Amino acid sequence: AEHHGGNVQEYDPAGDTGAPLRLELLGDLRRAIESGDQISLHYQPKIDLQSWRISGVEALIRWQHPQQGRMAPDSFIPIAETTSLIRPLTTHVLGMAVRQAKAWQQAGHPIPVAVNLSTRCLQDVGFAGQVLSLLHEAGLPADLLELEITESMVMTDPERALTVLQALRAGGIRLSIDDFGTGHSSMAYLRRLPVDELKIDKSFVQEMTVSHGGSVLVRSAISLGHNLGLSVVAEGVEDQETADVLRELGCDIAQGYHFARPMPAGDLDRWIIEHRA
Ligand code: C2E
Ligand code: CA
Ligand code: CA
Ligand code: CA
Repeated sequence: AEHHGGNVQEYDPAGDTGAPLRLELLGDLRRAIESGDQISLHYQPKIDLQSWRISGVEALIRWQHPQQGRMAPDSFIPIAETTSLIRPLTTHVLGMAVRQAKAWQQAGHPIPVAVNLSTRCLQDVGFAGQVLSLLHEAGLPADLLELEITESMVMTDPERALTVLQALRAGGIRLSIDDFGTGHSSMAYLRRLPVDELKIDKSFVQEMTVSHGGSVLVRSAISLGHNLGLSVVAEGVEDQETADVLRELGCDIAQGYHFARPMPAGDLDRWIIEHRA
């Protein structure tokens, strides 16, 4: 995993050792959203395995806590997701991502930006309208925004989630199923989801070159995705061998530390030039 500074353990925001810490974290996060200067996005390239060029980026939240330093998303996103705070946080992230996508488009190199959603977004019938008006205000073409969802986000209330997803898709936004393989996906639901892309969870990708079980799952996810007309992404690619095997298996896109770590937008501009990507 990535390094997020040494103080995360001490602060123990994800632990269940007591309510004060959790409440403290939520208060700090609320102030961080309001102040705006502690939260930023890093962008990780997604690489087209045919051309080896960048096909898009995933936006990943970064929080620089004034006392605790850098906080790992896994230490605060799941807690924010238990409260309504995840909605303003997601709105904040979407705003930053859309502005960055607009800047890239205006600079003459449009890059689709993917943002991670949460269950509550898909339970809110107003969500699609909010995202579409955000795009409209920014003047960003909808196909430069991609939204990543997981199957479990849909399963909480499938009918309502489908309504939201269909409205987003009708607005031209690309949708992606994240962490594929980890949930209880039923083929029946997958077929009904109005998505464009399937991202195979990194746990399966990383097992691929060491175990046969991993490779069976990756193979079947690729053919399932293709049978449904989806673009297939492998996440967590950490070496060239894995990238080569994925390419041979017909996987469309790869993402992982082998190509690049998530990085600030300015660094990504330099990365693209250096790698002619
Ligand atoms: P995710 O959506 O599955 O994002 C991929 C995670 O894998 C990221 O961790 C990324 O830095 C990491 N990663 C990328 N390449 C590699 C690799 O080659 N090897 C390994 N081991 N890891 C790799 P990160 O940034 O710590 O984010 C963790 C999770 O937090 C994300 O998992 C996502 O579920 C959540 N998250 C991050 N940003 C946001 C956000 O803006 N909103 C929401 N709702 N969730 C977010
Ligand atoms: Ca994701
Ligand atoms: Ca993922
Ligand atoms: Ca995840």
